Amino acid sequence: MSEEFLIQYGERLDAASRKEKIEQNGFGETFSDHMITVEWSMEKGWHNSMLKPLENLVLHPSAQVFHYGQAIFEGLKAFRNEQQEISIFRPFDNARRFQKSCQRMAMPELPESTFVKALELLAQTDKEWIAQEPGAALYFRPFMIATQSTLGLHGRSSRFLFVVIATPIKGNYFKSENGTISAYVSDKYSRACSGGTGSAKCVGNYAGTILAQEEAAKEGCGQVIWLDAKENRWVEEMGTSNIFFVVGNQLLTPALTDTILAGITRDTIIKLARDCSYDVKEQAIDIDEICRFIKDGTLVEAFSSGTTASITPITSIKRGSEEFLISGGRAGKIAKLLKEQLIGVQAGHLEDKFGWLHRI
Ligand SMILES: *Cc1c(COP(=O)(O)O)cnc(C)c1O
Repeated sequence: MSEEFLIQYGERLDAASRKEKIEQNGFGETFSDHMITVEWSMEKGWHNSMLKPLENLVLHPSAQVFHYGQAIFEGLKAFRNEQQEISIFRPFDNARRFQKSCQRMAMPELPESTFVKALELLAQTDKEWIAQEPGAALYFRPFMIATQSTLGLHGRSSRFLFVVIATPIKGNYFKSENGTISAYVSDKYSRACSGGTGSAKCVGNYAGTILAQEEAAKEGCGQVIWLDAKENRWVEEMGTSNIFFVVGNQLLTPALTDTILAGITRDTIIKLARDCSYDVKEQAIDIDEICRFIKDGTLVEAFSSGTTASITPITSIKRGSEEFLISGGRAGKIAKLLKEQLIGVQAGHLEDKFGWLHRI
């Protein structure tokens, strides 16, 4: 029974050191006291579910994950409200997306209930790591790797390991109201191609984007806008976040394809925006048209969406030698409003109309 976790509590960091560690954590450098592991084997299926003190993984150097990249991950958060209640944001949606990634990568599907139970256990055990402050959270990183020791690649691995670790996020990480980015359009590299793995959250999708990130940084840009691999024309996403544009009185985002990761924040933004009576369209978006709309003033805002940073306004887009400034280089008001809505629901200040908070 995968739902029955063996529980092994370990030592906990004292309150003062914990507070200091949370304050100093950039992103994902400090971890909470415990972790989850669940094993899968051909003979036993899912078994050995454990909550235990955070420790190193011990793997044989021939473990398949190191050689053939069979690895997927997720990212989601738990929050604490003013009544000190802890909730996880949309965990069932992440569980379903994890299963889709499993399918694409020929990995055994982890039951939705095991995924959510693992998060509940870890959130409950390490809840002291969640500050009660808007924007503060405990970020969970569930992942799964192929662990069979063999260099042979004959079909499915016979062993897998599911793990969850958690890293605290301090409130003021998000308070930087003017945290905006410039985005660089990558004409040279591609992130995903049709028929590939772009819509699965598999680790191989990220290694190839680091070089493009470095080139963007040389151009003074914090993020890359990825176009489709075939025509180099259609806007897809930003590699770890999705993208939105405000054109006239419409909110536009690329329609999902098999080269775009279906962000849960993207879906959240679409629903919040429609609830605020904005006209939201999911459609193919031509980069040349976007640049034209910025020039003629019809494009008034752009922003990215993702779990880690919620909403980040994009204040300029660079393509080749041209740079297009958006909303005078400042954060737009729709991005600000939607970010307030999102953080308000997560912190428990605003009504959770869609039932996104899963109380533990
Ligand atoms: C995780 C991710 C996103 C954002 O998804 P959220 O569920 O909103 O965090 C977007 N693009 C890629 C490639 C991602 O890996």
